[in-house]
Amino acid sequence: MLCQTVKAELDCAFMSKKGCGFFGGSCHAVIAQCEDCSKIMNYESGKYCVVYPDPSSKWLNGKCPTATHIKLELNETTQKINPLKASKRSSKKG
Ligand code: SF4
Repeated sequence: MLCQTVKAELDCAFMSKKGCGFFGGSCHAVIAQCEDCSKIMNYESGKYCVVYPDPSSKWLNGKCPTATHIKLELNETTQKINPLKASKRSSKKG
């Protein structure tokens, strides 16, 4: 149903005839850590994330996993691909 609170006219699963079912009765505005993220959308009511209804919850345990303005620090050892294993993996496919 189309949002009738802060993200006017956006189709949203939280919206019902009884109003917004999200806690607090509407989406929550972005927080300072979100600044410069491309997932921010400007609505008449303010700036909101197009992905998450409560951006602050995404920053509680570290960095938001969907943020486009920061690089997530991945463990280098897990990132290195063993060429031999990669070759075996690709030969198994198909
Ligand atoms: S994706 Fe994450 S960082 Fe970007 S606006 Fe949404 S909550 Fe904020």
